[in-house]
Amino acid sequence: KLTSREFHPQDTVVDVDGVKIGDGSFVTMAGPCSVEGLEQIRQTARMAQAGGAKILRGGAFKPRTSPYAFQGLEEEGLKYLRQAADEFGLKVITEVMDESHIDLVAHYSDILQIGARNMQNFKLLASVGKTGKPIGLKRGISGTINEWLNAAEYVAVSGKSPVIFIERGIRTFEDATRNTFDLSAVPLIKKMSHFPIIVDPSHGTGVWDLVPPMARAGVATGADGMIVEIHPDPENAWSDGQQSLNEKTYQKMMQEIEIISAAM
Ligand code: PEP
Ligand code: MN
Repeated sequence: KLTSREFHPQDTVVDVDGVKIGDGSFVTMAGPCSVEGLEQIRQTARMAQAGGAKILRGGAFKPRTSPYAFQGLEEEGLKYLRQAADEFGLKVITEVMDESHIDLVAHYSDILQIGARNMQNFKLLASVGKTGKPIGLKRGISGTINEWLNAAEYVAVSGKSPVIFIERGIRTFEDATRNTFDLSAVPLIKKMSHFPIIVDPSHGTGVWDLVPPMARAGVATGADGMIVEIHPDPENAWSDGQQSLNEKTYQKMMQEIEIISAAM
């Protein structure tokens, strides 16, 4: 298989317009769950950059559980995200939910994120694989390692896009956390595939004060980076405020991560 270690023994380093993922450094992608407006995303981009993140996240097309919940600012959100990222020298990752939006999202974003709910949307995987842009592939809500690897294979076989695996927790019987964050996925994926893997302690836990300890643990697994939700005012965030870090907590976490990643 194209994604397997046997096929390609060396680590694949993914170049996101100059930011390297998988080269041994730990790359942070930070930003709000949703882009809410230009000022909100500019403030968050400033925070993200000050803490050492290299890539700005933010949803413009949101896969919400309820159809009555905020669905995202769509193209307006993509514009704000790009503008804020450019202002602070950051790259962009954002989700593409539907095949019909691939060109639009690819126009504004450096990495195309495939959400957990779309891990097995095989036509979408094949289509994003043709763009040549790096694909941030979230693990499905109940995705096994084998299913996740096969999803990556759909991307790889269809074109030139490299994959960045994103461990974001899986559904188990435990409901004290939003998901069960499966950190064993990191060394396992590294053993089985040459593509980089990053961790998402925000969706992995769903609880903001669990995010820094699990981010620290994520660095220690040998992950190539993390994607984390931050917000200038988490209590008033339009989505996922309960798992978003404020400026102070984020900065402290980034200092801790720096120490652990330097020791790795
Ligand atoms: C997100 O990153 O905001 C998101 C919707 O994540 P997931 O697809 O992992 O639930
Ligand atoms: Mn979210």
